Amino acid sequence: MDHILNEVTNTVHKRTPGASAVETPCGVTYNVADEHLRRVSSDSLVTTATKCGRCFDDGGGY
Ligand SMILES: [Zn+2]
Repeated sequence: MDHILNEVTNTVHKRTPGASAVETPCGVTYNVADEHLRRVSSDSLVTTATKCGRCFDDGGGY
């Protein structure tokens, strides 16, 4: 599954399935510039990153 990493806050978001552009269920992509958002696969996920509390049930921050 694809994830979106917000490099500014070091927070990982889910990527909305089927969306043509970079989009997350919590809508963070509307507030953050594309250059700060990186598409990552769950395999290469940075373990120090925080999970988004709105995209993940077990997440904490935004
Ligand atoms: Zn999110």
